[in-house]
Amino acid sequence: MFVSVAVNIPSEKTFSYAVPETLHEEISIGKRVLAPFGKRRLTGYIVEISKSAPREDTKEIIEILDLEPLFNETDLKFYRWVCQYYMYPPGRALAEILPGGIDPKSDQWISVAKEEQERPDGRMSPSQRRILDTLTQHPDGISLAHLKKMFGKKDVTRDVNSLKSTGLITTEYRTKKPQVSRKKEKIITLNIRNLNALKLTKKQHFLVDLLRGHGSLPLSALRAQFTCSPSAIKTLEQKGIISLTEEEVSRHHGQSPDLGIRGKTITPNEDQECALREIVKGLESARFSPYLLHGVTGSGKTEVYLNAIEKALAMNGGVIYLVPEIALTPLLISRFNKRFPALEKAVLHSGISRAARYDQWRRIQRGEIRVVIGARSAVFAPVRDLKLIIVDEEHDTSYKQDDRMKYNARDLAIMRAKLNAATVIAGSATPAIQTYFNTMKGKQTNLILPKRVEDRPLPEVDIIDMKKELGGDDQAVSPVLSRALQKAIGETLENKQQTLLFLNRRGFHTFIFCLDCGHAFQCPNCAVSMTYHAGEDTLKCHYCDFAIKLTPSCPGCHGNRIRSYGLGTERLAEEINKLFPEARIGRMDSDTMIRKGAYENILRSLYTHDIDILVGTQMIAKGHDFPGVTLVGVISADTSLNIPDFRAAERTFQLLTQVSGRGGRGAFPGRVIIQTFNPHHYAITRARDHDYLRFYEDELALRHTLAYPPFSRLINLHLSSSKKEKGLEGLERLKHIMRTLAPATTPQGKVEIIGPAESPIAKIKGKYRWQLLIKGSDIGAVKNLAKEILSKASVTGLDIRVDVDPINFM
Ligand code: ADP
Ligand code: ZN
Repeated sequence: MFVSVAVNIPSEKTFSYAVPETLHEEISIGKRVLAPFGKRRLTGYIVEISKSAPREDTKEIIEILDLEPLFNETDLKFYRWVCQYYMYPPGRALAEILPGGIDPKSDQWISVAKEEQERPDGRMSPSQRRILDTLTQHPDGISLAHLKKMFGKKDVTRDVNSLKSTGLITTEYRTKKPQVSRKKEKIITLNIRNLNALKLTKKQHFLVDLLRGHGSLPLSALRAQFTCSPSAIKTLEQKGIISLTEEEVSRHHGQSPDLGIRGKTITPNEDQECALREIVKGLESARFSPYLLHGVTGSGKTEVYLNAIEKALAMNGGVIYLVPEIALTPLLISRFNKRFPALEKAVLHSGISRAARYDQWRRIQRGEIRVVIGARSAVFAPVRDLKLIIVDEEHDTSYKQDDRMKYNARDLAIMRAKLNAATVIAGSATPAIQTYFNTMKGKQTNLILPKRVEDRPLPEVDIIDMKKELGGDDQAVSPVLSRALQKAIGETLENKQQTLLFLNRRGFHTFIFCLDCGHAFQCPNCAVSMTYHAGEDTLKCHYCDFAIKLTPSCPGCHGNRIRSYGLGTERLAEEINKLFPEARIGRMDSDTMIRKGAYENILRSLYTHDIDILVGTQMIAKGHDFPGVTLVGVISADTSLNIPDFRAAERTFQLLTQVSGRGGRGAFPGRVIIQTFNPHHYAITRARDHDYLRFYEDELALRHTLAYPPFSRLINLHLSSSKKEKGLEGLERLKHIMRTLAPATTPQGKVEIIGPAESPIAKIKGKYRWQLLIKGSDIGAVKNLAKEILSKASVTGLDIRVDVDPINFM
């Protein structure tokens, strides 16, 4: 018997191993094994079982690490597709997808040679002697890592090598204890019922009596009842009266917080009914059925999801419910619990412990838990009989994983549904351009909820032109609050209602614009905003590396009032505090939300009206329902408009629509004030008019002109290096490689290479970063070119990661 194993190394290949007789029975796809790999021992996942091996000299696996598989063949089919699509090594991908922290790492251990050797003390250096003496005191050996800690890195390796060559010490690879392993418990079972003939001590009698009542008991429970010595148990076991076995138990995971939301029964309205009827058709067809649930904010999309889940469960199906990020869970969970009080569900997100995740994972794979709610990685959960996947706020950027394997969970949800002949609902008030494009092509059914529930009005949106606001005075004014917004906040406070102030600070702190015409500098080649580099006083395009010196006059209107603008939530909160000293102000951004429970606390105090004004980043834009909020202020719509990305307008429209949607959900009508230097930009005016369709048309026309997705396919190669000079040298070599490539034209059309250029964030965690875009109409051709570059890329010395843009489905 042989197995193919995907090992956690950067290789596309899987490796063949022989299975020793003794392990035959335990072998199954989806289990981890420990296997020799060169001089090391590595863990890998069994992905295939076969009778023969491709080579004669296959090595044997050492150990099987799981009692039960972590995935089955259907899951594997999906996982395989994922790593192929994202051009990611399968062993790496599995290690990332599956619950983490369970890889026993192997390390080199050093010990004194068993056979007595004569110590040539005279010829040993003092440091070698010290190492040998230390090892002598530790007959079981010491790990190399530990030795290095004790004696310093360089010398140890050299000394160990020379000691080894004289035969005084030996080295071997041993695994450390895994960080998380299955938790087992000892179970005692009574074997013999008729105990009359047996001679027992008093204690043994007591124990046997206890067991007679229960049949079997966990050892820990016994210990809680009375003190029994291990020897008493051992004696009973030796006599065959009881037997001891090990069984797996599940770790308890923390109870999810309940926000105490009042549950009311809701009858779906006509639009909701209509959408549901379609979804039920999909579920009953038992065929792949992809839907877009396009409903304005507050139109009752969540109700539709919950009803669809109920249907899927009634059909004995499994469900995955994806939400943008941990930010959304407490609220959702509490709503979910109200709806399905008895249902057991798994909540998977980065906040739960690895151990709990491991336990949940296996209960899901066994089919004990049928509903999984979670952030993006939950799309990989091994749910059995998967019938329904929901992707709430499908346009949200947090579905995109940006480090390691760069996948988009929304796209994967659709692919997974396809492989499982399941139904998938992607819901949003502002669908991604790509998604809406799919519905236009008839690839995804569009279900529409055009109105807010109970005919509540959409909020009134005003746009404030900050250029006028800053007026004639030439001083650098802090453009924080317009008079209109200031007045509105005052009124809201007086009416004892609540205000949300929204500032998108993520990414780029400052941008350069013209105070007269609002001109923000864009690359003439790529139509993305250029970024200011203070050191060189230049503006740079992060797609093609085009750069210009910052001119003192504006290319748009030739005015000379060029300004930079940047502001953070912290300073905003201070400003507000000065203006409204009597108001109770809360702040919500990733800096303040680090503390556990901070998020729930802020949400709760918003509900209980212990906060009058909440200042925050886009965290507050996510689908919350704040009944007391009647005013929403957007401090600067320009911050997201000016990110150097061709999706900047799309993001801006989405953000503005989402934040606006937070207002006026309760009894009072809502009001929204958007401050901007670009009051006529279509992303802003269409958001004011709540007009998704017109925005889509504007944006699509632009994408078409510039051949951006969905009219082309993009692969972004992220290049990085910890040394700048080495990185730049690598870039030169890369450019050379690119010149040697076959002319980038295929029968399907042209493939373009743009860049390399510095990344928008040029340095992260000590790594210098660049990017290279490959663009073309045919994904196959784009991928082939990427593969060709990758195959030759090792000479560049750069770390290269592949980022494949959204999938065009079906
Ligand atoms: P969305 O997800 O589209 O933003 P929700 O599903 O959160 O909207 O619904 C918004 C609010 O309206 C919630 O408080 C919900 O309980 C309520 N709601 C949903 N459907 C109905 C309905 N048919 N009748 C009355 N209230 C409803
Ligand atoms: Zn450019």
